[in-house]
Amino acid sequence: MKKVVIVGGGITGLTAAYYLQKHARESQLPLDVKLVEASHRVGGKMQTYLKDGFVIERGPDSFLERKASAGRLVREVGLGDQLVNNSTGKSYVLVKDKLHPMPGGAVMGIPTQIAPFITTGLFSWPGKFRAAGDFFMPPSKVQGDQSLGEFFRRRLGDEVVENLIEPLLSGIYAGDIDNMSLLSTFPQFYQVEQKYGSLILGTRKTTPSPKKKTAGDGQEKKKGMFLTVKTGLQSFVDAIEAKLEPGSVLKGIRVDKVSKQDNGYRLRLSSGETLDADSILVSAPHEAALHMFSDHDHIFEPFRDMPSTSVATVAMAFPESVIKEDIDGTGFVVSRNSDYTITACTWTHKKWPHTTPEGKVLLRLYVGRPGDEAVVELSDDEIIKIALDDLNKTMDIQAQPDFAVVSRWKEAMPQYTVGHKRRVEKLKIDLENELPGVFIGGSSYEGVGLPDCIDQGEAAIEKILKFLKLGS
Ligand SMILES: Cc1cc2nc3c(=O)[nH]c(=O)nc-3n(C[C@H](O)[C@H](O)[C@H](O)COP(=O)(O)OP(=O)(O)OC[C@H]3O[C@@H](n4cnc5c(N)ncnc54)[C@H](O)[C@@H]3O)c2cc1C
Repeated sequence: MKKVVIVGGGITGLTAAYYLQKHARESQLPLDVKLVEASHRVGGKMQTYLKDGFVIERGPDSFLERKASAGRLVREVGLGDQLVNNSTGKSYVLVKDKLHPMPGGAVMGIPTQIAPFITTGLFSWPGKFRAAGDFFMPPSKVQGDQSLGEFFRRRLGDEVVENLIEPLLSGIYAGDIDNMSLLSTFPQFYQVEQKYGSLILGTRKTTPSPKKKTAGDGQEKKKGMFLTVKTGLQSFVDAIEAKLEPGSVLKGIRVDKVSKQDNGYRLRLSSGETLDADSILVSAPHEAALHMFSDHDHIFEPFRDMPSTSVATVAMAFPESVIKEDIDGTGFVVSRNSDYTITACTWTHKKWPHTTPEGKVLLRLYVGRPGDEAVVELSDDEIIKIALDDLNKTMDIQAQPDFAVVSRWKEAMPQYTVGHKRRVEKLKIDLENELPGVFIGGSSYEGVGLPDCIDQGEAAIEKILKFLKLGS
C-alpha cells in the first residue's frame, strides 16, 4: 500500500483527494489517501451562511464558466442541476463620489470598442488621448516579468489605469498593481502586446463575443460569464466531502512538521500523532508550508516575503422598500482616488437572484486592500458602520439592515509579486531534487480562482501517480 497525505482541505486539497481516491478505486490501485485539515471543517475559503431564505457567500461567490474544471467537478459530485449563471447588467466604477457606468466593450478595463471610451465620463480628454497612444506604440522590449501597473500605465496611461483597470484588478486580487506580476496574473496581455503591438486592437481580435441564451420570453439575452451553485458553494464542498472514503479526512488536526525519512516522509500532527507518507501534496497556504518544512526552509525561503492581503466582506440584508435610489446594475468597484474604505459593492440580489427572498435586497461590500488592512481588525459593528456610511455617499439608505454578516479573511489573498512565476518554477525543481514526492498546489502558487485551484489539484494527482509509478 502506498500512502499519500494531502495537507489542507481547501478546494485544491479536496479536488486532489476526490479524484485520487476515485482513480485508485476504479483502477484498484494499492493507494491510501488521507486529507489532513487544520480547522474543524473542510472547504477553506469556501463558506456559505444560510439565513431566512438568503444564501450568503462569506468567501468566493462564483467561478468563471470558461475555465471548465470547476463546473466539471460540480457535475461530478452530483450538483450539475444546481449550477446557475449570473444575471448580467450594468456595472459601475465609483470615482470621487460619482458612479460611472463601465464603458461597453471593456475587457479587464482594456477598451475594445471606441465609441463608449470616447463618450465615458470616467476619463478626461487628455486621459483618452493618452490611451489612444496604444495604437501607435511598439511592443515593449521588457524581458521577463514586469508589474501590471508598469505594463498598463505604459500602454494606456495613468488615468485609465487608476480609474478603471486598477479597481477591477484589485477586486480580483486585493493587490497593489504596481507590485503585482504580469506573467503570473495576465500573461495573455503580454502575449497580445507582443503579437499585435496595440493592446486595444489585439484584445479586440482575441476576445470572443459574449454567448447569448434565449430567455423564457423568446428574447436573446447575454449569458453571464460566471457560474455558482444555487444551494451555496458550501454545498459543493459538502458534496465532495461526502464522496471521500470514510475515515480518510482528519479534521481539526494541523500538520506541524514534515521530516524526510530513509523511505518517504513523517508528518508530525498537532494531535501529537504522526503519519507516514510516500508522497505529499501541500495545498495549505505558503505561510503554513514554510512552517512545516522548517528543516528545509531554504527551499521555501523565496516565499517568506510573499505578502497576503487581509480583506473582509459585509453582507447586508434590507427590505426592498428602504432602497430609494436603486441603481440599475449588479454593482460597482471603487477607484483608489476616491475617499472610500469599501473597495467594491455587489448588488447580490440582482447578480444572483436565487440568493435573496422576494421583497428583499442583499448587498455585499468589500473592505481591505494593501495599505488599508487595519479595517479588517475592527469590530463587526465598526465595519458595518463604515460600510453603511460609504454606501450612503452614493445611495440614500437611512435604515439599518435587517441583519449583517461580517466575514474576515486575514492574510488570505496571496500576492503574486513580480518574479512569482520564476520563484514557483524554482520551488518545484528544488522539491523534486531535495524532497522527491512532495508537491505543492493551491492559491499561493499558480492561480487564485477556484478553477485554477481545481486545475492544480488535478495536476498534482498526475505527478503523485507518476512518482509512485502507478501510472495515471
Ligand atoms: C473574500 C474572498 C472572495 C473570493 N472570491 C472569489 C470568487 O468569487 N471566485 C473565485 O474563483 N475565487 C475567489 N476567491 C479566491 C478563492 O476563494 C481562493 O483562492 C481559493 O478558495 C483557495 O483555495 P486553496 O485550496 O488554495 O486554499 P484555502 O481555501 O485557503 O484552504 C487551505 C486549507 O489549508 C488548511 N491549513 C492551513 N495550514 C494547515 C496545516 N498546517 N495543516 C493542515 N491544514 C492546514 C486551512 O485551514 C485551509 O482549510 C476569493 C477569496 C476570498 C478570500
